[in-house]
Amino acid sequence: MMEPTKAQYLFLNGGFAPYDKAKIHVLTPAVKYGATVYEGVRGYFAEENSNIYLFRLNDHLKRLYQSMEMAWMKPPYSLDEFRQHTIDTVKKNEFHRDIHIRLMVFVQSDDGSMTSQEPVGVAIAALPMDRSSSKSETGLHCGVSSWRRISDASTPPRIKCAGNYQNSRLAGIEATNHGYDNVLILNENGKLSEGAGSNVFAVRKGIPITPAVTNNILEGITRDTLIQLFKEKHSLKTEERDIDRTELYVVDELFYCGSAMEVVPIISVDKHPIGGGKVGQLTQAIKKDYLDTVRGKDRTPVDWRTPVY
Ligand code: PMP
Repeated sequence: MMEPTKAQYLFLNGGFAPYDKAKIHVLTPAVKYGATVYEGVRGYFAEENSNIYLFRLNDHLKRLYQSMEMAWMKPPYSLDEFRQHTIDTVKKNEFHRDIHIRLMVFVQSDDGSMTSQEPVGVAIAALPMDRSSSKSETGLHCGVSSWRRISDASTPPRIKCAGNYQNSRLAGIEATNHGYDNVLILNENGKLSEGAGSNVFAVRKGIPITPAVTNNILEGITRDTLIQLFKEKHSLKTEERDIDRTELYVVDELFYCGSAMEVVPIISVDKHPIGGGKVGQLTQAIKKDYLDTVRGKDRTPVDWRTPVY
C-alpha cells in the first residue's frame, strides 16, 4: 500500500471531515480575534513494529487544558476523549511514518463577539512531517529581532494561543528579510525570551542555560525534556535564568528546541559566530539523546510514548 503523502481526513467537531471539507465560518472569533488554543505533537514511526508513538501526548493535553482555562474556553472533551480522538485521527489516515499533529480548540460562534466563550469547537489534524529544518545538522544563522516578545502583562505567551503568533510572525519575517535563517526574541526587559516557535538553550563554560519560565516564554515540553536529559545523561543542572543580548554573543553553544523543531543548532547571532561558527559538542550530544528518547531507544518513560496502533 502507498503511504499517504497528505492527510485524507481531519477530526472536526466530533466527526471526521475530508481534508478539503474541514471548514469553519469565516466570521468565527477564532478567525476574527485569534481565539484558538492549540498544541503541536510529534508522532514517531517505529520500523520494528510498524507503530507510531506520540511523544508526551499526555503532557501536551495537560498544557492544552491549561491554555483553555487561561483563555476562558470550556473543555468540550475529557482528557481521555481528547487522547482517543487524537489517536483515531492518526488511525483514520492510516499513517505509517513520522507525523505532526495539530490539536486546536477554538471559539466558533457564528459572528461571535470578541468576548464570546462558546460554543467551543475542536479540530485535530495529523500531517506527514520529517525534520523541520534543512539546517538541523549544520546550524542556523540567527538575528535578534527588533520586536519584543509579548508579555504576561498583556498577551501571555504561557497560553499557547493562535493570536500570540502574530508576534512570532513579525519577528520571523523581519529576520528573513534581513537575510537570517531564524530569529531570537528578547522580552520587554531586553532579556532573551525564545524563538518564534521554539525555546532556546545556551551552553556556557559547560553549563546549560535557558531563560526562566518568568521570561515570557511558552513553557515548552521539549525544554522540560532536555532539562531532564541534561541531568540524567550528563549530570548537568540547567540554569534557568536571564540571558542578556550580549551574553548570546559570547556563549559557547546555542540551540533551539521544540516539538516540531526538535533540537536545531544556532551557529551565529547578529553575525557573531557562536563556538567558532561550528555546532557544539554538547548540542550534538543532547540532540542525539533527545532523538533516542523520542524514538524509545533509551529507557524512555512509558507515559512519554503513546502508541497509536
Ligand atoms: N515556544 C513557542 C512560542 C512555541 O510555539 C513552541 C512550540 N510549541 C515552543 C516554544 C516549544 O514548545 P514545545 O517544546 O512544547 O513544542
